Amino acid sequence: MNHTSPPRAWVEVDLEAIAHNLDIARQASPGVALMPVIKAGAYGHGLEPVARRLDTDGAAFFGVANVGEARRLSMAGVRTKPFILGPAFPEEREEMVLNNWGCTISTLEEAQHYQSIAEMFDKSFPVHMALDTGMGREGFLPHQLGEIIGPLQQMKNLIIDGVMSHCSAADEDVSFTQAQIREFTDCVAMLGRHFKLRYRHLAASAGELGYEIPIANMVRPGLLLYGVAPMASIYDGVLRPTLRLKSRISLVRELPAGHGVAYGRDYITSAPTQVATIGIGYADGWNRRLGGAGTRVFINGHYCPTLGRVTMDQIMADVTAVPDVAPGDTVELIGPHIPVTEVAERAGTITWDIFTGLGPRLPRVYHSH
Ligand SMILES: *Cc1c(COP(=O)(O)O)cnc(C)c1O
Repeated sequence: MNHTSPPRAWVEVDLEAIAHNLDIARQASPGVALMPVIKAGAYGHGLEPVARRLDTDGAAFFGVANVGEARRLSMAGVRTKPFILGPAFPEEREEMVLNNWGCTISTLEEAQHYQSIAEMFDKSFPVHMALDTGMGREGFLPHQLGEIIGPLQQMKNLIIDGVMSHCSAADEDVSFTQAQIREFTDCVAMLGRHFKLRYRHLAASAGELGYEIPIANMVRPGLLLYGVAPMASIYDGVLRPTLRLKSRISLVRELPAGHGVAYGRDYITSAPTQVATIGIGYADGWNRRLGGAGTRVFINGHYCPTLGRVTMDQIMADVTAVPDVAPGDTVELIGPHIPVTEVAERAGTITWDIFTGLGPRLPRVYHSH
């Protein structure tokens, strides 16, 4: 007897499309270093497989969220250096120094701690100064720079190897973003008189596509690697989708008119309806806000509206218009017929949230062609 079960829902990842999109990021910023951002499991595509595929593509760093992700890359034998984008906890810092992982500093306390760890191991540790030009999440405030340069210069084991900041509204507020770019430029010019700033980086995907930042020499594209441009640009239409979300029909039944579908009876059939039960739910990351009118899935060449609320493990769709539909048939939820941008819009959220919401219960199937 065969005791395996076919997956009820899964994610198909096209690693070549991610590599292609990295090439587009490279073309968009010629001559500039690249930090592909692969935090949060490469936006749901799978941390290790994506890192391995991009490992020989000449990136300066891989952007990760935290030490746990950096450690996973190193255990997977990935050669590109991880760069930890967010602040680290004190107990994580020794591992970071010993492995030479890239990181930011936002306070003199952090700097002093890295300095003393590096001194203890008799090594020098390169860090990037984070500047808070408006994001309010990490970094020194520009007005603090005058008083911290001296103390940082005293830290002999700390190399101020780079400077970074982060745009907080690149896809929403052009004039604020331009002010951020000017402030970053002024700060870098000032810091550059005291430190050899090998890397200067501000732009994520929207910043890269939408703005000129001549002082920067590295970009940190995330979303655009996964085929979605947060800004209109000349690269629209050349990015390739990187992921498909699929499920299977587990049951097809005819319900009479006047029958409720799913919790709360939000949907009541108005006529006899062929209803397919599909093996994906909010526990897989199919956002619960996708319940209700307007959401559709693609089955055997036909768009089918989903019916009623999303349940934990299952959703229902109207397949009355689909001939010969049967249990086992594949359902496209994200893919060539249903872009991730449509799903995000229907869910009232952003594509980043849809990608990173794809849950661990969904097996990832990789295609490299
Ligand atoms: C997540 C993140 C990025 C990538 O952002 P995208 O909008 O996905 O391109 C870049 N830089 C930092 C600091 C980030 O946190």
